[in-house]
Amino acid sequence: MKKIQLQLKNLSVCYPDKTLACDKISFRLETGKCLAIVGESGSGKSTIARAILNLLPKGTKRTGSILFNEKELVGISEKKMRQIRGTRIGFISQDPYAACNPVLSVFRHVAEAWHAHGLTFVPDKIITAFSSMGIRHSKEQAGRYPHEWSGGMLQRAEITAASIHHPSVIIADEPTSALDKDLADSILRLIVSLDSAILLISHDLSLVSDFADDIAVCYAGQLVEMGSVTRITNHPRHPYTQALMNAVCKKGGLLPEPLSGSVPDLKQVSSACSFAPRCRYKMEKCLNEAPGLIQGVACHLNDKTGLQQWEPTIDLLNESKEPTFNESKLVLELIGISKRFKESSIADPILDGINLALKTGEIIGVCGSSGSGKSTLLKIVSGIEIPDTGMIRYGSDPLWKYKGKRVIRCLPRNGYTMSVFQNPYSSLDQRWPIWRSITEPAMAAHCKTRPSNSHRKLVAARLLKNAGLSQLNGLERPSELSVGQCQRVCILRALFAKPAVILADEPTSALDVTSAAGIYKLFKDYACQGIAMIIVSHDETGLHSFCDSMFRLSGGKLSRIC
Ligand code: SF4
Repeated sequence: MKKIQLQLKNLSVCYPDKTLACDKISFRLETGKCLAIVGESGSGKSTIARAILNLLPKGTKRTGSILFNEKELVGISEKKMRQIRGTRIGFISQDPYAACNPVLSVFRHVAEAWHAHGLTFVPDKIITAFSSMGIRHSKEQAGRYPHEWSGGMLQRAEITAASIHHPSVIIADEPTSALDKDLADSILRLIVSLDSAILLISHDLSLVSDFADDIAVCYAGQLVEMGSVTRITNHPRHPYTQALMNAVCKKGGLLPEPLSGSVPDLKQVSSACSFAPRCRYKMEKCLNEAPGLIQGVACHLNDKTGLQQWEPTIDLLNESKEPTFNESKLVLELIGISKRFKESSIADPILDGINLALKTGEIIGVCGSSGSGKSTLLKIVSGIEIPDTGMIRYGSDPLWKYKGKRVIRCLPRNGYTMSVFQNPYSSLDQRWPIWRSITEPAMAAHCKTRPSNSHRKLVAARLLKNAGLSQLNGLERPSELSVGQCQRVCILRALFAKPAVILADEPTSALDVTSAAGIYKLFKDYACQGIAMIIVSHDETGLHSFCDSMFRLSGGKLSRIC
């Protein structure tokens, strides 16, 4: 029998603001096994990880039991916990930029665990580990700083830092959210091969089904279904698990089905089933009594002999919506864009003669492996980076003018483009409530009429509701939100501006499948109003479900794939 490395018994976590983020969570994890916890943003998945590592905010209450190698972690001193974190329990965090110290090179960041635990330092081991993670020119790249690495590369550095000491448990919180499918597969295969016990937190059900042994489905801080991967993916029994399965992008270009409503406010204690407001099968009993986890399912339907048989639903959203704009015209044109990083000794250009044309209401998807230049392409199109050669036109206006050897940048008209950046936290003002960030474009210098604050709050609340964030009232600040919620706030800010062109870099990388499905629908709805978009993502299947045409960026070249 395999050794139990980690065992949770009735673990509850209550934040200082009385949010009950985890409610009586129990599971166990054995050596060599991988347990995946799946669920929407805000369902409590990351809180479980942080509770195990004792990385919760000051004043948070943990009750119940967390046994690590038969040693109780609830109530352990911070000094003892520090000896366990990093070497005996590895952690791969969701946001690799936030996890890195920006003034240390990536190499020194990974080496930090050696220093912290007083271990003998082996520089070559880090370089070799980077290479095995698929980082090209690893020796040169290692000396660079986090902002010089792409999100995908940095996430691989995080995985290196977490796994290099062969800990007995690795907790991976969305470890591959910034990686393309092939790279994500190879990296997870690498992690699983380490023979540690893996607690994998992910919203990517298809990824989970390839690597995990068991799945625990988390909703509103509770486990609502647990079982083997085969059982859960083929015969999901809880209505919430069924909804998650329906929201997975299917091959064939159909929009997945979003789940309406949102996770309830976890400050309100209720005796009803927490999923009842969104459940199509709810009964009288569900409103009076919360079901317990019996035979792996927490649902009153389980009491009956005939459980609902899950069938994938055909998405009603695929009914085509009529465009509301009259004329389709060229809004953006890229002509022969090339770019090479001058400070790098890497010979290959990152972009090599890129041509692209975008029309009103058109959505173009660009996929490609991590580090292939997708983000660089968007930065050039938005005017943040300067290309070595080539021209960009917004309508008939050039974005660049060449005067002799000098490049003079002519920014497009205000409000012509809006960007959704890859890192949602750093693209929001931490001091502002989110209603202010969402409606910020209304206060731009070129806007003639500026709405009142009360009107801005109302509009923000409506947009939040449309994006499945009705539990937020707009007064929250980014630090109070999950990464996925911040990502949707950034998307809403771009949609609110109704620009001619939206440039979105991995806009759904931190979203669970149901939230991502809702965002795909929003993109489609706004495209019908005439907004053109370039969406960069490593999720080719997701892009395929809502983009009009798709391109792949590889070796600096852009090639059309559909
Ligand atoms: Fe739906 Fe009732 Fe089951 Fe809750 S207990 S998931 S409301 S059927």
